[in-house]
Amino acid sequence: DAIKSAFPIAITGHVDHGKSTLIGRLLYDTGTLQSGRYQEMLQSSLETGRGDEFAFVLDAFEEERRRGITIDTSQIYFNSKLRPYLIIDTPGHREFIRNMVTGASYAKAAVLIVDAVEGVMEQTRRHAWLLSIVGIQEICVAVNKMDAVAYSSDAFAALSVAVESLFTEFGLSPAAIVPISARVGDNVAKLSGSMPWYTGKSLLEVLDSLECRPIEERPFRFPVQDVYRFDSEPIVVGRIESGAVRIGEKVTIYPGGRESAIGTIRTFPSSEAASASYGEAIGFTLEAADAEIVRGSVIAAGAPPTCGREFQATVFWFMDEYAAGDPVTIRCTTQSVPGRILLHQVFDPAQPDAELPSDLICVGEAARCTILTEVDLAGDHPGLIPETGRFVIEREGIPAGAGIFR
Ligand code: GDP
Repeated sequence: DAIKSAFPIAITGHVDHGKSTLIGRLLYDTGTLQSGRYQEMLQSSLETGRGDEFAFVLDAFEEERRRGITIDTSQIYFNSKLRPYLIIDTPGHREFIRNMVTGASYAKAAVLIVDAVEGVMEQTRRHAWLLSIVGIQEICVAVNKMDAVAYSSDAFAALSVAVESLFTEFGLSPAAIVPISARVGDNVAKLSGSMPWYTGKSLLEVLDSLECRPIEERPFRFPVQDVYRFDSEPIVVGRIESGAVRIGEKVTIYPGGRESAIGTIRTFPSSEAASASYGEAIGFTLEAADAEIVRGSVIAAGAPPTCGREFQATVFWFMDEYAAGDPVTIRCTTQSVPGRILLHQVFDPAQPDAELPSDLICVGEAARCTILTEVDLAGDHPGLIPETGRFVIEREGIPAGAGIFR
């Protein structure tokens, strides 16, 4: 369960800027890597001539995976004092976008590593772009290898300016820019004495400060699966996709925006409850029961969803091809509405610089687009509520693509 509630983060950056070293350092400094196991890995790394760098930790994981032994490298966990983290693998641009839009592996935040000596490089740009495409807004920049620039505050300041302007280009803003040395351990899990000029938080403290709101405290979202009308009082059933709710709470029903309030809460098979929260499959009665509630209605409280017929989105295509404007069905939780897609910018995630014609999207390609629906749809930004922030695109009942709202 601790693992299920882990905070998923992606660690990205130009090759050799220190991704593996940082992961090893995080595992080690948080005590996640038990010392016996650490010694074992260190030993095997020394024997194979890799040296005692932290990157060996990942190599060891990789080696174990190859030999089919234990750990899946795409599932690395570590614990801060606050919570467990899951490091989401970024296997390649295409897979990353696909996994993010389908929710197969969803990073809520990212660490972008920039080498203090080399500065912003081609892949740094691409990764910033990629993060903006998949809607990750919480991004910590780690300026790594500060030991290699004599912990110079001037070097850090100059690089911070470059990073800020790169982020601005993609409509992002970094949650923090932290000068670190992954190899030495400066400002990763603990603040360093080598950079007294730095008055901010350590990288781990920055991660801990991100989106601490428990999942139950997010705005309430209840996509209706079905409505049972046994007697005069209809019971709406479904699964709480976000937040929590209690009897008497004022809610709004989308589409339409009618106000109502929770009458009773029925848990299955036959008991009643005073409240219910994220993940529970339950039934409600509503005050002023509304004949308009059907499968696909969304009952919401707190910050309202965006409801309408036009959404900006990023889509990823995984079956055949799609000509801009052709009819599709958009499925977002239990909502299923007819619509079409206007493609603005089609690209191959593996080669983001080569822009493709925007009248067609093929397997493996992604696009920034506008989703037009024939009836109102309620959605959220995936950074706020991932469950209602993504959708599947179907053609003739078969999923052909997926997307996230932007
Ligand atoms: P990756 O390709 O991003 O995973 O990078 P690695 O973690 O493999 O690191 C690439 C090289 O940079 C290795 O030789 C590391 O030892 C070195 N390196 C990583 N972090 C630091 C650091 O904080 N300081 C210095 N001086 N070198 C580092």
